[in-house]
Amino acid sequence: MTLAELDSRLIWHPFTQMAEWQPLVIASGDGCFLVDEHGRRYLDGVSSLWCNVHGHRHPRLDRALRDQTDKLAHSTFLGLTHEPGIRLAEQLLTVAPRNLARVFYSDSGSASVEIALKQSFQYWQLRGRSSKQRFLRLTDAYHGDTLGAVGVGGIDLFHRIFGPLLVQSIPIPSPAGTDGAASLARVEQELERRAYEIAAFVIEPLVQGAAGMLVHPPGFLRAIAELCRRYQVHLIVDEVATGFGRTGRLFACEHEDVQPDFVCLAKGITGGYLPLAATLSTAEIYDAFLGARSEMKHFFHGHTYTANPLACAVGIESLALLQESTLPSARALEPELAAALARIATLPGVREVRRCGWMVGIELVGHAFEVCARVREHGVILRPLGEVVVWMPPLVLQRPELELLERATAMAIRETLP
Ligand code: PLP
Repeated sequence: MTLAELDSRLIWHPFTQMAEWQPLVIASGDGCFLVDEHGRRYLDGVSSLWCNVHGHRHPRLDRALRDQTDKLAHSTFLGLTHEPGIRLAEQLLTVAPRNLARVFYSDSGSASVEIALKQSFQYWQLRGRSSKQRFLRLTDAYHGDTLGAVGVGGIDLFHRIFGPLLVQSIPIPSPAGTDGAASLARVEQELERRAYEIAAFVIEPLVQGAAGMLVHPPGFLRAIAELCRRYQVHLIVDEVATGFGRTGRLFACEHEDVQPDFVCLAKGITGGYLPLAATLSTAEIYDAFLGARSEMKHFFHGHTYTANPLACAVGIESLALLQESTLPSARALEPELAAALARIATLPGVREVRRCGWMVGIELVGHAFEVCARVREHGVILRPLGEVVVWMPPLVLQRPELELLERATAMAIRETLP
């Protein structure tokens, strides 16, 4: 039996209609390319679901992983600690918004959001503001697939069916495609009326990725931050997709000089090597949880693989590499990315092209799924979000690879759309 046959018999894949599943078995990676079991190379146009930063099998990340393997693969972070976890926290707090002071590790973006929600909720309970139990979020928000994260999500297709199971959140109209004034007015109205019952506003900064790369107007994030501050509501910024260079800065918050109460990180934190996530928070939040053990104020949450040392060791190296070379290289190629997209935008069947740094959504009039299937024949892996074809390549992409991405996408669009 081939691997593909065995896969089809045994495995249930995420976000996949298994009745129509056609396995593509990946055997190795090489820079910006994935190589299948038959030796065919494909440009990894979505960075292995938005997490790969420096390409596959980067020698420095491989070495960091091997070196750490020689010392310790895993030991719990409950009751113990270790150097890679401590050093990575130190590095993250050096580069994150300067008001953040504490790192709570976990292992997925969804978990990092749930942790922020729970910490915010518990903070208000501990401070005697026990009516603050609800969350504000944007329409079409996406913060992950676990129930807490789904509760602050707003993508009907993914989330509606689970409605009865969820934390209830209050939707604010997304500002994407507008000047943001109506959304801000609505936030202010909600806060004026019921800030006393709102713990936090949860937001994807600058761009709502899973909704199809919906880009916010400039100044929106900062205005939200100011409103949250004024009405004593936490701001949780979910940088799971935008973090680690995706928007052209290390973190999206930097574009608007915002200092949130929580920042959620995952995906690119290990350059795309291993599952790791972190929820960063302020000293004020952390301090509320301090007391004698018998007071039971501490945060009762943790995962088995929290702060896995292999992942943390790779994370330290990845962050250094990002600052030294990967981010400058991605920024240098951005004008060519913009030029390529201007050409793509003129193709028949393309409704709109949206971009924030290296997060790109190409909205088609239809058939995005078929375009992504077709583009594989031209040597590129892409995934659709509804009718949006996403470009999210590794940040080390070079000009010839960008040319392949553009050529293959254009061919697939021409061949698929009437
Ligand atoms: N938050 C945002 C903004 C995301 O884009 C994602 C995943 O795409 C998540 C959270 C969930 O991350 P994970 O898939 O690691 O749970």
